[in-house]
Amino acid sequence: MEAIEKFVRGFRRFQQQYLSEPATFDSLRQGQNPGTLVIGCCDSRVDPVLLTGSDPGDMFVVRNIANLVPPCTPDAPPGVTSAIEFAICGLQVARVIVLGHARCGGIRALMNPRRLAEETDFVGRWMRIAEPVRLSVMQELRDKTEEQQHKACELASILQSLDNLLTYPWIKRRVEEGTLVLHGWYFDIESGALLAYSPRQQEFLPMVCPLEDEAFATAE
Ligand SMILES: [Zn+2]
Repeated sequence: MEAIEKFVRGFRRFQQQYLSEPATFDSLRQGQNPGTLVIGCCDSRVDPVLLTGSDPGDMFVVRNIANLVPPCTPDAPPGVTSAIEFAICGLQVARVIVLGHARCGGIRALMNPRRLAEETDFVGRWMRIAEPVRLSVMQELRDKTEEQQHKACELASILQSLDNLLTYPWIKRRVEEGTLVLHGWYFDIESGALLAYSPRQQEFLPMVCPLEDEAFATAE
């Protein structure tokens, strides 16, 4: 019951914050007009709205195991693709953020196929989308530790999701026209930093450094 009580108290705070002001409540009632689609992982520690301090209506969020985007094929899972289609073609969002994270259980399952086979097959079937990523990481980082391989796979799967987004003609067209921008972000829950992929430098760079680093930087 403790969990439910916490949720009810939380909703009361939400009411106070967002629904006590008639203008805000009214605009929320009238409809949504988010500028951003976030494709994130289901992981309970990686809530895009909570992480970015967003308000209701700011973000259209699609969450699935390991923030994957299936390529555009006739048999692509409609649960994910319909949400992406609605955000881009219906709501006309201006940007897409694929938000990956460290210590991702989905990626861990992908990297340990034996363990995956012992678990439910739905996760296994879903994670097959990222199989090309696993193969290339295992080939390129064969001699690295498991931890390094997992992190590489977490980062590479974000890039795969960005590439797969471009297989949808209505996304590719908007990106080419400049009306849609794609971003790859990584919440490093290990250090507490937020990284973003830089296409120019072809690597993930810190957008927000870990707290310790900032304290260090201030002290200098
Ligand atoms: Zn995850």
